[in-house]
Amino acid sequence: MSIGIPENIIPLDSILPDEPLLMMGAGPVPIPPRVAAANSIVINHLGDTLARVIEQVKAMSRYVFQTESMHILGVAGPGSAAMEMAVVNLVKPGSKVLSICNGFFSQRLAEMAERVEGDVLRMQVPEGEGVSPGEVEKLIKQYQPDIITIVQGETSNTVHNRALPEIGVLAKKYGCMVIVDAVCTLSTMPLDMDDWGIDAVITGGQKGLSSIPGVSLVAFSDQAWKAIEERQDRLRHWCLDAKLADQFWYKKSYHYTAPVSGILAMHEALRLICKETLPRRFERHSSCSQALQAGIEAMGLSLFVEPCARLNSVVGINLPENINSLQLLKTMSQRYRVEISGSFGPPIVRIGQMGEQCRSHNLFRTLHALGASLGSLNYGVDLPVGMAELERRLDSYER
Ligand SMILES: *Cc1c(COP(=O)(O)O)cnc(C)c1O
Repeated sequence: MSIGIPENIIPLDSILPDEPLLMMGAGPVPIPPRVAAANSIVINHLGDTLARVIEQVKAMSRYVFQTESMHILGVAGPGSAAMEMAVVNLVKPGSKVLSICNGFFSQRLAEMAERVEGDVLRMQVPEGEGVSPGEVEKLIKQYQPDIITIVQGETSNTVHNRALPEIGVLAKKYGCMVIVDAVCTLSTMPLDMDDWGIDAVITGGQKGLSSIPGVSLVAFSDQAWKAIEERQDRLRHWCLDAKLADQFWYKKSYHYTAPVSGILAMHEALRLICKETLPRRFERHSSCSQALQAGIEAMGLSLFVEPCARLNSVVGINLPENINSLQLLKTMSQRYRVEISGSFGPPIVRIGQMGEQCRSHNLFRTLHALGASLGSLNYGVDLPVGMAELERRLDSYER
């Protein structure tokens, strides 16, 4: 025993703020009390109790993904692990992959496909735009991909690929499969996996679903599952092998120790979505996000993406000249206890509108913190006009 006990370790209470910060960034998002309570419980990972929970998680997921698929799997890991699970099980060495790239996360899907030796063609979509189905069709004809990857909502630059249903139709027409990253969008806006002909949909816990980070879901279509079952080569990834995960999720046997607390949390998050219903949830998200956008603009700031390609789930605000992003975020966090996100890429700051973030009391506090912080950094905004516009827009939604 030559390594001593570390000195100066202080209890968590002394590290965390007295009052939790309001998490209004690009995730993780606030979780409902029911989800937090479920997350504090540990149960047997193989017993009948968890088996009943898993049955309900799968049933509720089918509603949330809008699919009849019996191939929805949970993953102990971040949204990226679910992305990787979809990619490594469907992309074989030499598979031709068309990666539609209009942001950081679509590039991540492309990189994952390259790492398993897919033959990847990156289609670069101009910054701030959604992909055009006509351009995709041209490339499909030229390149004849086996698989297309696309992100529904690019959290990184707040672009929404509105043409997703058309991309699904094109993929079926030309016989390729489509992998969709819906980490920030699932349950915040429509995504009809079966009707749109999508073969794999990925989501994380900590964004649209308003659960905890670290437990994610991936849904495979029957066609995708057939491709997985027919694969002859041995997957290089053991934890992410869908056939091994199927042992736990459908055959009640052991793959690895499931993240039981996280699955319980996911159960509660899904149950709250089912209780709210998807149509009402979509309506809440679009109304809240649009009210927030209107408030931001009325205050005198501008939004990064034009309305035709603008994502509602995460709002990107152009950083005013002479304002340092880190300083703005620090002021909002320290003075007003509101956290929003900076950017990796364009000069924007981002406010999330996912799950519990879309509540009017959170919107008022966030918009006020943004305007007041800019004011204290000597950038003039019309805060009262912005707040009044937010109130007017929310009021007309709630009536
Ligand atoms: C956050 C996010 C991811 C990655 O999720 P992690 O849990 O951070 O791995 C992937 N795609 C999109 C669109 C996201 O918003």
